[in-house]
Formats: sequence, C-alpha cells, structure tokens
Amino acid sequence: MTRLTLDHLNVGYGGADIVKDISLSVGSGEIVAIIGPNGAGKSTLLKGLAGVARVTSGGLEVDGTDLVPLSPFERAIQGVAFMPQDRNVFRTLTVTENLETSAWGHDDIRARMDEVIALLPTLSGYLNKAAGGLSGGQRQMAALGMTLMSRPTILLVDEPTAGLSPNLVGEMLDVLANLTRHAGIGVLIVEQNARAALTRADRAVVLVDGRLRRVGPAAELAGEPDFGALFFGDHA
Ligand code: ADP
Ligand code: MG
Ligand code: MG
Repeated sequence: MTRLTLDHLNVGYGGADIVKDISLSVGSGEIVAIIGPNGAGKSTLLKGLAGVARVTSGGLEVDGTDLVPLSPFERAIQGVAFMPQDRNVFRTLTVTENLETSAWGHDDIRARMDEVIALLPTLSGYLNKAAGGLSGGQRQMAALGMTLMSRPTILLVDEPTAGLSPNLVGEMLDVLANLTRHAGIGVLIVEQNARAALTRADRAVVLVDGRLRRVGPAAELAGEPDFGALFFGDHA
C-alpha cells in the first residue's frame, strides 16, 4: 500500500503562490478526481506534485519519504509518475519504439513493455504502427503506456481526455479506473469532463481560485443539486 500525502501544500512559479493550503491524499487502488473551472490551478497542483512547479510551503510525502527536495526524475523513482496534458509521442516512431524511449530503470525492458501492454491491451492492436498514423485516442493510449513504463504506484494525469471525441472520453477514464482496480495504482486525475470523471472516481475535490472548495466521495459531489454552480466547464 502506497499513499501520497499533501499537507497544507502551497505551489507557485516563483511569484505569488497559485495553489494554496491543499491537504489531500491518494492511495493505492483509488482514483481521486480534481475538478474546477479553467485557471483554478489544477495543472499547477499536479505540476507541484511532479516537481515541475515549486512547492513553496507545506508537506508532500509518499509513504514517509519527503518529495519536496526531489527532482521530477527522483519522484518518478519513488513511484510518482506524471502525465502532463501535453505529453507527446514521437510520431515517426512506432508505439513499441515510443515505449522503449521511456524504458529507464529496468533490467528487462521487454518484460516491462509486456506488463504495460497487459495493462493497456488495446495497445497490442497497433504496436508496430508509427504513432503519427494513429487516431487521437490511440496516441493518448500510447502516451499513457509511456508514462506507465516507469512502474508507478501513484499516477498523476492532467486532462487525459482533452481533444478526444466524446465517445472516447469514457473509454479513457475506464482504462484509468481499471489501473486502480487491477494494478493497485493510485490515480490523481484532473478532468474537465467532470460528470464523466465523477462516475469513475472514488473521491473528488473541487479546486477554485487555488483552494479546495469541496472534498468528498465522488458520488456525493455528483449528486449535488448545485453541481453546475460549483463547476463551470461541465460538459459531461
Ligand atoms: P487550470 O489547470 O486549473 O486551468 P493552471 O494551473 O493552468 O489552471 O493555471 C492557474 C494559474 O496559474 C493561472 O492564473 C495561470 O495564468 C497561472 N500559470 C500557469 N502556468 C504558469 C507559469 N508557468 N508561470 C506563471 N503562472 C502560471
Ligand atoms: Mg486550464
Ligand atoms: Mg490545466
């Protein structure tokens, strides 16, 4: 069991803090959704956890290991992987070759690739295709596969369904939810399709103006009569 713990965390880019006083945790086998209006600081929060924006105060630990002084690479070694919204694939390379580019830290790259393909079985349908020739959904699945190559225990995902056609949104979210159920990974996901995310998440937080406005079971938040008022970009 692994748990990522945020304790009164503040994050910024060098000026005033963007994200303030966030206390939250995500553990093995659960999926926690971060929703909130555009500009709320959702991406900044994930970047702070991943080490690509600055934690200015507060605690950030994984199972008692302080992540704050660690680089993004060192955090990944601790099991915390980040899939940014602009995570890209090399379009001239095949899916297999793309997975290989992320194959650090393993004695047996082939074995880890097989594990990732088992976690994302749809990949096996286009492993030898150049990524440039894939559909948007397939490319995003390849990007997720690359992220999983580091064998994360905690996965931070920023808007994995951005740009996907509506019928693929649920499919991608189901794949992420399955990672928690079948691989025991803890997933912290930022998602614009709030209702679609809440139907898959265990818990959810609503971030507004850099602060947590609400925290609760996803089903409870989804059932709020004033849900739309809590959250602007609700397309789901
Ligand atoms: P969200 O993901 O919720 O849409 P962001 O975290 O992207 O919100 O942005 C929150 C705020 O942080 C915005 O006001 C944005 O202008 C600011 N911001 C984002 N990236 C940077 C950066 N690299 N440097 C300074 N400010 C930034
Ligand atoms: Mg945004
Ligand atoms: Mg964002």
